[in-house]
Amino acid sequence: MIQTLYNVEEYNEEKIYEAVSKSFEALGVANDLKPGMKVVLKPNLVMAKNPQYPVTTHPAVINAVAEYLHAHGIDDITLAESSGGLYNAEYMKNVYRTCGLKALHPYIRLNMDFSSVSVNCPDNFANHSFNLITPVTNADYIINICKLKTHAMTGFSGGIKNLFGTIPGLEKPQMHYRWPAIEDFSRMLLELAQTVNPNVTVIDAIDAMEGNGPTGGTSHPLHLIMAARDFYTQDYFAAGLMGIEPESIVMIRQAVERGLATPDDITLVGDPVPADLTPFVKPDTHKLDFSGSLPAFLAKPATAVMSHFLKSYPKVDKNICVGCGKCAESCPAHIIKIENHKAKFTKRGCISCFCCQEMCPAKAISVKRAL
Ligand code: SF4
Ligand code: SF4
Repeated sequence: MIQTLYNVEEYNEEKIYEAVSKSFEALGVANDLKPGMKVVLKPNLVMAKNPQYPVTTHPAVINAVAEYLHAHGIDDITLAESSGGLYNAEYMKNVYRTCGLKALHPYIRLNMDFSSVSVNCPDNFANHSFNLITPVTNADYIINICKLKTHAMTGFSGGIKNLFGTIPGLEKPQMHYRWPAIEDFSRMLLELAQTVNPNVTVIDAIDAMEGNGPTGGTSHPLHLIMAARDFYTQDYFAAGLMGIEPESIVMIRQAVERGLATPDDITLVGDPVPADLTPFVKPDTHKLDFSGSLPAFLAKPATAVMSHFLKSYPKVDKNICVGCGKCAESCPAHIIKIENHKAKFTKRGCISCFCCQEMCPAKAISVKRAL
């Protein structure tokens, strides 16, 4: 597979356009583009957050992709995403505004169709179907534009995980509830990724997130724009750049086991891998996980044993909590109540999905271990 990697120091549109253009030329994207095509851009807009924070895909990267498409005769470009939380006009208008998408390229239409369509899966999938946001099901061509981050539940968020945002609104927490174990949830993500099957995946790693991602971590810039058609192998490659043992991330290990990711077959195009990379701080939920340092045949059983003893639970700091209720709204187990303008958690029934931590705008939720 061809993996492109270009050094881009900051969010400068000209430099990003250069990196995206060179990447797309190397990947042969122009050959795919035909007049009249409906192209969907799928960014990461997990929550309403100013783009100065490394939470969402930066608008300058989205603009550069749109500029390339427009220069190649495409004028039907829709930006479509279902953030964490609700999926309706009021909620998404706030997300678009806060994430800096008001000044996007004039050829990008911000999706305002909040319907969804059920798409059947092949017989050998554990999921019979996925309910996907409508623009994704109508697209002739999908460009996945993710943000590189750590993630409290999955450990890593790149191209595969970004596609979870094609599931509408609060159906996402329901899927956490349906697949509470990381092995099952990761298998679901891979089946979803195969169903959506984006044509190209761009990674915004100019600034990236370490620590308590995907929303509560801190900045760890890599100054990189990457792109590939094979986003499974690209996730393997990108995890390595973060100092993460790729196969310690269950969805990446499963992608290798299923033959979706082929890490022995990477042809790097562009700049060399930077020599001064430093490992990303892991999320608190993964800090005691040493399975990545074990041989592959031991990693899986070790993860199963550790997850039993090291089960993590959310803990709210009542001094920081502002009582907004976003955690309760996103909790699939419905065990969070807002009392006296503060969140109150019950441990019983918690599936440790950390949707609550992900959606907390005040960073009031930390991780507590069972032991
Ligand atoms: S309390 Fe938080 S971690 Fe527990 S089930 Fe609810 S959202 Fe998931
Ligand atoms: S989301 Fe955070 S700030 Fe809002 S109620 Fe929950 S814990 Fe408090």
